[in-house]
Amino acid sequence: MKKNIKGFTTRCIHDGELIDYKYKGAVSPLYLSTAYDYLKVEDHKYPRYFNTPNQLALSKKISSLENCEKSLIFGSGIAAIFASMFSFLKSGDHVVFQSSLYGGTINLILKEFKKFNIEHSLVESLEIDDYKKEIKSNTKLIYIETPSNPLLQIIDLELVADLAKKNDLISIIDNTFASPINQNPVNYGIDIIIHSATKYLGGHSDILAGTISSSKILIDKILESSINYGGNLSEHTVWLLERSIKTLSLRVKAQNNNAFKIAEFLNGSENIKSVYYPGLKSHPQHELAKKQMFGFGGMLSFLLKDENKSDAFTRHLKIIKPAMSLGGVESTITSPSLTSHSKISKAKREKFGISDGLLRFSVGIEDYDDLENDLTQAFQKI
Ligand SMILES: *Cc1c(COP(=O)(O)O)cnc(C)c1O
Repeated sequence: MKKNIKGFTTRCIHDGELIDYKYKGAVSPLYLSTAYDYLKVEDHKYPRYFNTPNQLALSKKISSLENCEKSLIFGSGIAAIFASMFSFLKSGDHVVFQSSLYGGTINLILKEFKKFNIEHSLVESLEIDDYKKEIKSNTKLIYIETPSNPLLQIIDLELVADLAKKNDLISIIDNTFASPINQNPVNYGIDIIIHSATKYLGGHSDILAGTISSSKILIDKILESSINYGGNLSEHTVWLLERSIKTLSLRVKAQNNNAFKIAEFLNGSENIKSVYYPGLKSHPQHELAKKQMFGFGGMLSFLLKDENKSDAFTRHLKIIKPAMSLGGVESTITSPSLTSHSKISKAKREKFGISDGLLRFSVGIEDYDDLENDLTQAFQKI
């Protein structure tokens, strides 16, 4: 493991920046070439090989933030998720999944795995023994998401990593909800860390991207396959993502603070049935979150006392936008059953604990009082 000495904010700004030797500009130059000299350089550069100057520079920044040796940057989070699994899988293999996953990931498993004759288990509990039970002779990967979407469940990173190591499996985590600022899973022994950079890393709801961070050995293996799959991010967007990450630490800390206060406010409100936020003492895995996270994050979910009013409530909000996606500087609210989990049957959703009235709140960096006032006026209207 690489030892970091600088703080997150400094690393967000400076690590991996490209130096403008020619003009001494303060920011990374953008290199748009798709055609590079192959006679004078050993490392043949091509955007789909994930090795252009801007891609390599940004991947250094992300590796630094995730405390990993190497990273790759993809055109979407789901492209990163696909590559992280399929680079290691072949027909006849088996994967153990936590069931509480991003809807698109569930969809990928349920719709695509069968075509390749890849088996899977979806484990509904957070108990490590329930994962152990699912491991078979053909199991290759164990895949988790913590905090999970949309119920903010927390699974023990150290126990998952140990289970994987003992059984010769590769452990993968979708770390999107935490962001590297709140959680570095590699510190607990998790092998591969994925982000939908569309969310916190991009942070302004205007970039679609994904990342994979891991050891040199595993990244080189993923790279070998990813060159065949395609799926790198365009150079323009790589540059924009680098710029966005410079404020990641500041943004996430502001989001942590706002979300904590909002969770406490909602928890004390007579209009609310339940609040799901790992920072609340009442959260079932609060102590575990405290142990393995640097901060509790900017995401929370809640149920109104009258669940049927969640749509009306959302429509009355003035600052908080009803919007799919999350992790932007602006506060957004969404109904998982109508968006991220809409392709999953109602019966399956309810099995996963996602009722139709559940609202997921991605807390932004607005002034706290304005957010509380917005919620209060919407409560008054329903
Ligand atoms: C959005 C999201 C994804 C998928 O990422 P895209 O960038 O939309 O492809 C994966 N995991 C989580 C937790 C997400 O929120």
